[in-house]
Amino acid sequence: MRFHPRGIVSLTLDMNISRRSFLTKSAMLAMISSLPTPLRGLGAGFQPNNFTPIRRGVGIYESRGGTIGWLVRPEALVVVDSQYPESAITCREGLREKSGRSLDFLINTHHHGDHTAGNAVLGADATHILAHANVPTLQKRAAERNNTLDAQKYADVTFEEVWEESVGDENIRLSYFGPGHTSGDSIIHFQEADVVHMGDLVFNHSHAFIDLASGADTRNWIALLERAYKEFSDDTIFIFGHGNPTYGILGTREDLLATADYFTALRQTVSDGIRDGKTSDEIAEGGLDGFDSFKVNGSGTGIANNLKTVYEEVTRTVE
Ligand SMILES: [Zn+2]
Repeated sequence: MRFHPRGIVSLTLDMNISRRSFLTKSAMLAMISSLPTPLRGLGAGFQPNNFTPIRRGVGIYESRGGTIGWLVRPEALVVVDSQYPESAITCREGLREKSGRSLDFLINTHHHGDHTAGNAVLGADATHILAHANVPTLQKRAAERNNTLDAQKYADVTFEEVWEESVGDENIRLSYFGPGHTSGDSIIHFQEADVVHMGDLVFNHSHAFIDLASGADTRNWIALLERAYKEFSDDTIFIFGHGNPTYGILGTREDLLATADYFTALRQTVSDGIRDGKTSDEIAEGGLDGFDSFKVNGSGTGIANNLKTVYEEVTRTVE
């Protein structure tokens, strides 16, 4: 069985991965050399190096949890994701040094705690908190499981497929391309800056968390990454929720295809294993050929776990 619309497997796939890795690194070097010098001397109480400007007022904040994106313009202050309460406080202090505005919007890429646990901090003075329509329910369900209902702050504005609005001199477009990492992942495009926050739809050259319980769907995940590749351009800079130490959390649209190819290989390997009568454990033991960029830190465990998860996904959908 072939799952991949390009029908690429084995050697052809490996050659494409190598080419993509090369292109990605070249493109990133060119981009990084054009980035402004990181802001310095922003005062006490936070770590200025955690703030990295990217382009036209859009940047990232890194601490604990999924990457926070921000937009700071004379008439706009927008934050994407909120990590945890402690790091959200530090992020808010840093943003206050950059802007006297209260937040126009806090946007959640999806419901996971490492992206929403800081909502009560960063969302406290936000005009609105935005997320896909499925996010509040998924967030509440997870909070019930974790006994953290009292700590939640939920989106008050949600959308089904597209939400778009101008803030100051920036235009922000949120899109939902169907289930991927969960059933509520938004793609956030700062259109003037041409910077996109992908949330956890990309664990950059790393082992994605496939959250089946929250509606993850690896087949559609591949399709939506390919759709995003076409929708954006080589000039678009992407922010990813997580990434490996070598590739980091910024990238190009080639990284979207590297992630799509990873899922294609997982699905192909599981499909071949089932055809050959193997168990989930036997398939997991075999691992994946290639994908060396995903194996920094010697992580074979991530691949084995994801093979088991895809096995569960594929077999539970068979009638
Ligand atoms: Zn996540």
